[in-house]
Amino acid sequence: LLVQPLAQGISAFAAIQTGLGALARIEEVLALPEESGADVVRVRGALGHAPVEVRLEGVSFSYPDPDSADGLGAPVLVGTTFTAPAGRRTAIVGPSGAGKSTVLALVERFYDTDAGAVVVGGHDVRDLDRRELRAATAYVEQDAPALAGTIRDNLLLGRPSADDDELRAVLAQVNLSDLLLRGDRGLDTQVGDDGILLSGGQRQRLAIARALLARPALLLLDEPTSSLDARNEQALADAVAAIGPDTTVLVIAHRLSTVVDADRIVVMDGGAVVAEGTHRELVDSSPLYRDLAARQLLV
Ligand code: ATP
Repeated sequence: LLVQPLAQGISAFAAIQTGLGALARIEEVLALPEESGADVVRVRGALGHAPVEVRLEGVSFSYPDPDSADGLGAPVLVGTTFTAPAGRRTAIVGPSGAGKSTVLALVERFYDTDAGAVVVGGHDVRDLDRRELRAATAYVEQDAPALAGTIRDNLLLGRPSADDDELRAVLAQVNLSDLLLRGDRGLDTQVGDDGILLSGGQRQRLAIARALLARPALLLLDEPTSSLDARNEQALADAVAAIGPDTTVLVIAHRLSTVVDADRIVVMDGGAVVAEGTHRELVDSSPLYRDLAARQLLV
């Protein structure tokens, strides 16, 4: 008589624990500070699906710090200036803390600059509708999550109208066709806890596939810092390289396999751009780049 109620009690307890975890996460999100800067939209319809140039013009920035006298923390970007040409792949490299992720946060306008301007598609981001900016942009973070559901569910979030052929094509583009061969359910294969478990590299490529289906004018990609095995690393580099000229790619590259064939490489240190060029040019001209490259045995 006791066994069944006990078993039910235990499974109810597990469900409550899961619910409490989710509640804690919701509270975390609700506690986040409001985004800075009012939306004074001067330009509507400025961004579509055509690739856009991204330009930082003398950008200085400090994160808010409520404990400091002026409400600002130490400067993170100091007069950062560079251009990521439309339809090209630009990589940002540099030591930890150089300000690379902050650049992407400013392009997405999670924060406003203290000085200087971020210009996307010829428009200061402060003049654009934030929703329009984000709709034209796909941001793939370092630890991109896969959603519980099928491979198809994960991809259709990028473009709900995509048909199965398009889904298979984009999976091939990011070197994930193998996922369809695990079992006999193809695009209906479950991923996550109830299905196949994906490595960090595979999850990020799935997120890139989802982003590409949305045909963004701009793809912002923060490569994982965590170690990828050689196969995953090459698959990621190939996936980024296969993104065509319809999308401007701005990638924070932690591994040089992604940057050697980038159209442009921006080297950052201490919140400023210290060198720019192609891999070959920088190996010749930038001691910092040469050092970063040498550590990865690329020169
Ligand atoms: P990494 O390669 O380690 O990711 P990064 O070059 O991307 O480094 P950022 O993440 O842009 O560097 O960080 C630059 C500086 O800004 C660091 O000193 C960091 O501690 C600080 N910083 C980053 N995010 C925040 C934040 N949300 N609030 C306050 N300070 C921050």
